[in-house]
Amino acid sequence: MTTVQRTENQSRRSLPQAEAVIDLDAVADNVRRLREYAGDAAVMAVVKADAYNHGAVPVARAAVAAGARELGVTTLSEALTLRAAGIDVPVLSWLHTVDADFAPAIAAGVELGVSSPRHLAAIVDAARQVGTTATVSAKIDTGLNRNGLAPDEWPVFLRELGRAQAEGAVRLRGAFSHLARADELGHPETDAQRDRFVEAVADLRRNGTAPEIVHIANSAATLTRPDLRFDMVRPGIAMYGLTPIPEEGDFGFRPAMTLRTRVILVKKVTAGSGVSYGHRWTAPRDTVVALLPMGYADGIRRNLSGRIEVQLGGRRRPQVGRICMDQVVVDLGPDGDGVKEGDEALFFGDGRRGEPGAQDWADLLDTINYEVVTGIGGRTVRTYVGGEGGELR
Ligand SMILES: *Cc1c(COP(=O)(O)O)cnc(C)c1O
Repeated sequence: MTTVQRTENQSRRSLPQAEAVIDLDAVADNVRRLREYAGDAAVMAVVKADAYNHGAVPVARAAVAAGARELGVTTLSEALTLRAAGIDVPVLSWLHTVDADFAPAIAAGVELGVSSPRHLAAIVDAARQVGTTATVSAKIDTGLNRNGLAPDEWPVFLRELGRAQAEGAVRLRGAFSHLARADELGHPETDAQRDRFVEAVADLRRNGTAPEIVHIANSAATLTRPDLRFDMVRPGIAMYGLTPIPEEGDFGFRPAMTLRTRVILVKKVTAGSGVSYGHRWTAPRDTVVALLPMGYADGIRRNLSGRIEVQLGGRRRPQVGRICMDQVVVDLGPDGDGVKEGDEALFFGDGRRGEPGAQDWADLLDTINYEVVTGIGGRTVRTYVGGEGGELR
C-alpha cells in the first residue's frame, strides 16, 4: 500500500476513496501492554510484511518509542528499509535464499538468522568481503519443520559456527525458534519444543558458542506462557491489536487498522430489481442503496459478498449483492436514512464507532485475522493518526 501525508485540518472532500487508517497510539499502547506480559524479557516488535501491512517504518518508530528493544523482519530488504529510515535498534532478519546478497545487510549491522550450514557459509563469505564480523542468530527448528536448522544438520552447523566465530567472520548473538501450536493452550507440542530448544542452547554453550540471548515466544506464547519468555519475546499480531487466540478473547489489545471508504453514489432501487453482477440480491421493497468504491481488487474478498455489514450513517448496514472488483453496494432501507454522498463508511476497525472488527471478517472467511489485515491493498492508501509526529509522517 502507498502512504499519503495528511494534515489535520485537511477537508473531508480530499480524503482518499479507499483508506487504511493506522492508529500509532494503539500500536504504542499495545507494545506497552506486551511489555507488561514480557516481565523482565525484552520485546522484539515483529514488523515483517510491511508491519503486517500497517507500514514498517512508522510502526517500528512507534514500537521503539513505546519500549520495544529490537525489531524482527523476514527479508533483507525489509531490514534495509528500516536502516535507511535511520532506525538503529537491533534488527533481526530470518528468511533468506542461500544466494542472497548478505553484504549490504552485514554492513548495515543487520543480524541474520541462520537456518542451515549453507546459509552460514554464504554469510561467512559475505562477511569476509565486507571485512567485518557478521552478527548471526541460530534459527533452530524445534518441531515446526519449516524454516530453521534441521536436527540432522545440527552437528555440522555447530562445527562450522565454531570455526567461523574463531576466525572472526561471525558472532553468534542469539538462538531462537518458532512455535507450531502456541495458540492451542496447554498443547504438549509446545512443551516438547521448549525442551528441544533448551537442549539446543545447551549444545551451543558446550560448543564454546554460547548465545547472548535466546527467544521463542510469538504473541500467543507471550500472552499465555510466562515460562517461555527467556531473554526476549517476539510478538507480531498482538502489537497490531488483534488476538492470536480468538477463543480466549482480545486480551485488551486495540486494533490499529481501520478500513474506511466514502459513499460515491446514493440511489433508489425499486422492489424486485436485482443488484450487482448476477443479481444475487433482489430488493425486497423499494429501497435506497449506497455505492462504496472498494472491491476485491482492494482486498474486500469476493466471498464476503452479502455477508458483511458496513458502519455507515451511525449504524451497521448490510452489504448486498456481489462484491465487485472496484465497488460494493449497501442497503440503506426505504428512506435512505439520511445517508449522503461523501459520507464515511467503515468496513472494520477497533469497534469504537460501532464497526465490525477484522476478526469478524476472519470468522466469515474461515481464516485468521492476520490474513485479513495483510490482504488489504490495491488502491487503498495508508494514513496515520497518533504517534509522536501526529498525522504528518
Ligand atoms: C511472524 C513471526 C513472529 C510473530 O508471530 P505472531 O503470531 O504475529 O506474534 C515471531 N517469530 C517468527 C519467527 C515469525 O515468523
